[in-house]
Amino acid sequence: MKNNNLRIPGPVPLPQETLALMSTQMINHRGLEYAQMLDQMTKNLRTVLMTRSDAYFITASGTGGMETAIVNTTSPGDKILSISTGLFGERFREISNAYGCETIKIDFEYGEFADPDKIKLVLKNHADIKAVLITHNESSTGVKNPLQEICNVIRENSEALILVDAVSSAAGSIISTDAWGIDVVATASQKSWVAPPGIAMVTFSENAWKAYEKSQCPKYYYDISQYEKYLKLGQPPFTPALTTMFALQNSLHKMIGEGIENIFQRHADIAKYTRDLVRNIGLELLPQKNYASDTVTAVKLPANIDGKKIINTIYRDYGIDLGGGQQKLAGKIVRIGHMGWVDKKDISDAISALKETLLQDSLIV
Ligand code: PMP
Repeated sequence: MKNNNLRIPGPVPLPQETLALMSTQMINHRGLEYAQMLDQMTKNLRTVLMTRSDAYFITASGTGGMETAIVNTTSPGDKILSISTGLFGERFREISNAYGCETIKIDFEYGEFADPDKIKLVLKNHADIKAVLITHNESSTGVKNPLQEICNVIRENSEALILVDAVSSAAGSIISTDAWGIDVVATASQKSWVAPPGIAMVTFSENAWKAYEKSQCPKYYYDISQYEKYLKLGQPPFTPALTTMFALQNSLHKMIGEGIENIFQRHADIAKYTRDLVRNIGLELLPQKNYASDTVTAVKLPANIDGKKIINTIYRDYGIDLGGGQQKLAGKIVRIGHMGWVDKKDISDAISALKETLLQDSLIV
């Protein structure tokens, strides 16, 4: 391995100071120190997600956060509008189907954004939709959906709850949870929060709590009322991933110090830098113009290239780990992650490696 430049869309490389924090001693998760840490982290999380709503840390991956959103607000048989722009939109739908919800689907092609006008039409035809599932940043295609516009359309045409998979956008792209009327935001520690995997974070609005009272989905570990009850005691309901919490505490502290507008600008800048370099080496982007992600760039590969082999070749020759295409995009794209604290050099090295590797005869099919 050469320089281990991890450029997948999460987990992200961690700074040395975070790695050091992760090797500190365990603490009593029902003690004073944990209570103080949880209190400060909850405040900071609400600041980054721009909400006065409740916010919780759950020991789980991002998918656990998405499941938390569904099991606490819906009931089997509920009509749910599931908007999908890729693999993770499909996953959100699968979770609601697993709990017996009746999903109405809007599917956009991989690479397209979720068009608010199309969503509006469906909402007008189904007055009884209880919740809308939307992926903010579709990591499988590098598309950032226009979440604010989508929320506006939902708020203007429906009473439905808005449940957002913000796993790969939060802390990288702006999410104005309260101002946009979002009921549940779900995100995860290993993405722009620059911590290891292990902690999902969710917000829960007043309307989400009203829906909770009626929700009939079976639940135990993800029952949000347990997290609420224990938060008042300064505790988690179950033993938390302490090491990840230590790292996340540091990230949240640094984010507040930097200022959230600066964080979003920094992500927008590195995303643009990445896209410019990609175009400079003659490659095209998968997302439609103006809908490219702030946290991951999806690049189309030339048709004559063995797109499955290229990832391993770049890793072998340069120690740079790019993301591949998933499912129908397997072999057709590469994805370059740029969430968290990213140096321009990490990006330019990755794109130079891509350019040089594309010239290798062994990759031409
Ligand atoms: N949604 C999105 C948009 C994601 O990028 C991911 C992770 N790649 C997930 C959901 C699932 O998160 P996890 O793997 O942490 O369960």
